[in-house]
Amino acid sequence: MKKFKCPDCDEVFESETSEEMLNLLQPHYMSKHADIMKNGTEEKQKAWMEKFYKDWEGAKEK
Ligand SMILES: [Zn+2]
Repeated sequence: MKKFKCPDCDEVFESETSEEMLNLLQPHYMSKHADIMKNGTEEKQKAWMEKFYKDWEGAKEK
């Protein structure tokens, strides 16, 4: 399991794989960061994903 902190708040999630983490983050963004989702452009989304995978690689195994 890896711990991953939401890039836009302090909530921490745990999952085994990056896919699983994205599945956890998606509803979280829908409810907590709806404004970010709404104002997100394709470029911002791409940058977010790149950062996500980079941070995921650097996240500590539990
Ligand atoms: Zn968040």
